[in-house]
Amino acid sequence: MTQQKTTSLDQAQSPYFFGIDVGGTGIKIGLTDDQGATLGYSAIDTLEPQGPADAMRRVAEACRGILGKLGLDPSRVVRAGLGTPGSQDIRKGMLIEPPNHPHWHHFPIVKSLEESLKLPVSYANDANAAAFGEFWIGTGKIHDSMVLLTLGTGVGGGVIIDNELVVGRNSFGGECGHMIIDPSPEARLCAWGGGRGHLEAYASASGVTARAREELQAGAKSLLASQIDKITAKRIFEAAEQGDPWSLKFIEQTGDYLAIGITSMVHMVDPGLVVLGGAMNFGGPNSPTGQRFLDSVRRGFEARTFQNVQAGTHIEFASLGADAGYIGAAGIARSDYHKAL
Ligand SMILES: [Zn+2]
Repeated sequence: MTQQKTTSLDQAQSPYFFGIDVGGTGIKIGLTDDQGATLGYSAIDTLEPQGPADAMRRVAEACRGILGKLGLDPSRVVRAGLGTPGSQDIRKGMLIEPPNHPHWHHFPIVKSLEESLKLPVSYANDANAAAFGEFWIGTGKIHDSMVLLTLGTGVGGGVIIDNELVVGRNSFGGECGHMIIDPSPEARLCAWGGGRGHLEAYASASGVTARAREELQAGAKSLLASQIDKITAKRIFEAAEQGDPWSLKFIEQTGDYLAIGITSMVHMVDPGLVVLGGAMNFGGPNSPTGQRFLDSVRRGFEARTFQNVQAGTHIEFASLGADAGYIGAAGIARSDYHKAL
């Protein structure tokens, strides 16, 4: 389900856009108006082994279902946006080799969706789409530049400068999870491609779990010491909420790793706003532990940057949750539509 309030058609501002967010197990589909308000929503299973052509046919069917329910004429929808995991070639509209979609490799997904949906389609990386969603109507709403880091199984992200998403020559723009934060030979290994010292190996859910397991195995004193095999970011959060000193320190150390990566990104593009999205947020904005996590990121950044940059840079949690992807995909479609006018 979408967490967004749905807006009724008589309050909506045309034209309308579909936003489609393809995940490993599910596909989220939303219809938004020109302001980013959600008018209709549907979610379908990815059914990965059935392949991408079948999935795009079912996406188009779900889109028609949304229109039917609203009694909306298809001609009012002018464009769709599609976000998928990489690797991909955005300009050619091609999926290359998304690791969790083994049956979807080297597929012209934009052409496939355009034919099924009978609409022009804008294409983006899923994390870039989420960044654009936060930028359009979420935490970045009043800004013209923004960097998003999504903390999940991996660390993804997106960079928006002066209202433009940075796609990059190799469709690799905003892949902040692979920033190198530790150059030493014994630095942690990244899950993808085996590079060392990447931010993702320290601050993703899997990086956090691996680090925690090692520390506990080495004898760290914690409530979690007896459950090393069951350790997850969520358990560390729960132990921290119970006042476990090791968990609190561990969360702050994770925040500091993020701060190292964020400092480099800010020193490169000076966005004024850095947003932390994704489910691995140690409770997020509504919990004291989440706030402590955010404070440690801010402190680590402040300790490494310049005073004027610090004063002009905000670091905040994301606000759209799992809806950011489909909203951002629709937002990218909207941006392309208005550019072409
Ligand atoms: Zn990496």
